[in-house]
Amino acid sequence: MSCSSVRKTEFTVRSVLVTGSNRGIGLGLVKRFLELPNPPEWIFATTRELAGSQRQSCHRKDVSESPVLSVDVTDPNSIKAAAQKVEEHVQGHGLNLLINNAGIARVTTMENENAETMGIVYLTNTVGPLLVSQEFLPLLKKAAQQSTQTGLSCSKAAILNMSSTTGSIEVVPVWEFRKIPSYRCSKAALNMVTKCLSLEYKDCGILCTSIHPGWVKTRMGTEAVGTVEETTKAILKMLSTFSEKENGSFMGWDGQIYPW
Ligand code: NDP
Repeated sequence: MSCSSVRKTEFTVRSVLVTGSNRGIGLGLVKRFLELPNPPEWIFATTRELAGSQRQSCHRKDVSESPVLSVDVTDPNSIKAAAQKVEEHVQGHGLNLLINNAGIARVTTMENENAETMGIVYLTNTVGPLLVSQEFLPLLKKAAQQSTQTGLSCSKAAILNMSSTTGSIEVVPVWEFRKIPSYRCSKAALNMVTKCLSLEYKDCGILCTSIHPGWVKTRMGTEAVGTVEETTKAILKMLSTFSEKENGSFMGWDGQIYPW
């Protein structure tokens, strides 16, 4: 039996939370987790606006019902309240997987970029994932402590930050097509948040990795060609193989390591 197939059978995430999962890639990830042959017991989808989705929950007949939670990653109170709700639901089990997916982009150029867009994009894409990670750390640590698995993995305890190669200082892709300095800077800084978290928490058994989801057709990626289904299927497959090797790195949805 190959090493990857051994890891695959061990991909049993008991609980997962995805920020910004009312649409786009976040919603796709939640759907893919629900479709797993052994889906997590708790799948916490989150949205900024609970109105309209208040009575919704992530449900599959053989999985316990998890509520849709309200999380605005720029609002520390909403993050704290969500962490309390998750703690109540998992009943002492901790949280295995936190996916910091929520993000925004402003279409700006070097000429019209300004403090306001730099600020809100940085707050959402960089500060948000840091605050969410800090608030959920006690639950992630608990999951790591309770795990019987050795080493690091997404089944044990992990933080995944949805980044973008547009934040890669070495590659700087599609420059002529879209400059978006605020977005590029926010993702470059998010990658540093990933590195810092990975160094600080690896000894607690928590893995942290940045992920580039590819160019995906969503409200943000209007001109992209990839589909949410295709990328989220590939991401889940990739997550099942993550170990110490991927801790503190920048991975593409295609399983490649990207340059910072
Ligand atoms: P979408 O614009 O389709 O979805 C973004 C999600 O983030 C929405 O659910 C949105 O909620 C949520 N969100 C925005 N701001 C906040 C906030 N303050 N608090 C909580 N949730 C918030 O984008 P994608 O699905 O395409 O993007 C998902 C992630 O993938 C992002 O981090 C993005 O940067 C990254 N990415 C996407 C690429 C692509 O090609 N699509 C390429 C590279 C990276 P609401 O509905 O309330 O606005």
